[in-house]
Amino acid sequence: MIETDVAIIGAGPAGLFAAFECGMLKLGSVLIDALEEVGGQCVALYPEKPIFDIPAHPAIEAGALVAQLELQIAPFAPRRLLGRRVEALEGSAGQFRLRTDKGDAVAARAVIIAAGAGAFGPNRPPLAGLATYEATGAVQYYVRRREDFRGHTVVIAGGGDSAVDWALQLKDVAARVHVVHRRAKFRAAPESAAQLDTAAARGEIEMVIPYQLHALHGRDGALEAVEVADLDGATKLIEADRLLPFFGLAMDLGPIAQWGLDLERHHVQVTPATCGTSVPGIFAIGDVATYPGKLKLILQGFSEAAMAAHAIHPIARPGESLHFEYSTTKGVGAP
Ligand SMILES: Cc1cc2nc3c(=O)[nH]c(=O)nc-3n(C[C@H](O)[C@H](O)[C@H](O)COP(=O)(O)OP(=O)(O)OC[C@H]3O[C@@H](n4cnc5c(N)ncnc54)[C@H](O)[C@@H]3O)c2cc1C
Repeated sequence: MIETDVAIIGAGPAGLFAAFECGMLKLGSVLIDALEEVGGQCVALYPEKPIFDIPAHPAIEAGALVAQLELQIAPFAPRRLLGRRVEALEGSAGQFRLRTDKGDAVAARAVIIAAGAGAFGPNRPPLAGLATYEATGAVQYYVRRREDFRGHTVVIAGGGDSAVDWALQLKDVAARVHVVHRRAKFRAAPESAAQLDTAAARGEIEMVIPYQLHALHGRDGALEAVEVADLDGATKLIEADRLLPFFGLAMDLGPIAQWGLDLERHHVQVTPATCGTSVPGIFAIGDVATYPGKLKLILQGFSEAAMAAHAIHPIARPGESLHFEYSTTKGVGAP
């Protein structure tokens, strides 16, 4: 049994910063994440993309932001349980018990759920033999490194921001980029869609519209062509060795939905002033938390982490008064 003050479920940006805020209040914490590395969506989905709305960083790549957060929490050395999904949460304020799918048991006085989109995963296209091509990397749902696509012929499917952004980013490294979308209008940000039109007009990107994915052709997981169909069912083949379907993320709270918390459409309802959920002692922050006016932004998750940590202090340290202090006054010391 691992004992701690605060069990933090999810090590995305909100969970990582919660470990910092807990540390500043001399509360120990354990970070638990289903993924093998910390960073949540930033590392799993878009590590090389610059983020422009982190305060005091005019631009910072998502992976670099997570690296900075790691440096920031280092003085408090929170224990990490990675590659483990929290399956069960029982008990009450002051004495919670968590269990992971790998059999770890954690005892905590309070819990912060920073589970983002929950057990998020891509919406997968219904294509025969898809798993074989996923296994070889011929079909991927995230771009971890642009360089991995150098020299490849890539089909990108979808009409949202990811499809358009990655088409624009990969056109300079891939041998050829084809964008398959079922209608002429894209849901992506208007400036990005305009850039896509310009690149297509220059012949830098091949637009395949109005088409949708129909079948994959290849051998032993080596992709040779993507078959697309128009709305009348007429098909054609695009020679390609990589397919990137960007059909959005499926949000699934997974086990969290069974913990008796008040939910609102796959999110955990919280009181905005404390980020407390409907169960005393359990808090939710970041993308998973909802309240009127909620913005799903990293900076919002950071602020929620601070509020939750302060609200947890009386639960974890009953009878001990908490004097509000600036970090400039107290510095950064281990709990
Ligand atoms: C392409 C893209 C671009 C974006 N650009 C911006 C931007 O410019 N600015 C901005 O502010 N935001 C941006 N965002 C959104 C931003 O990434 C999210 O708001 C942020 O990641 C939310 O952080 P989080 O810590 O709440 O959750 P997440 O980053 O989703 O992390 C949650 C973690 O919880 C883990 N988890 C879930 N359930 C369990 C469980 N039961 N047990 C253990 N672990 C669990 C998951 O594995 C995950 O690692 C972007 C998102 C995407 C996809």
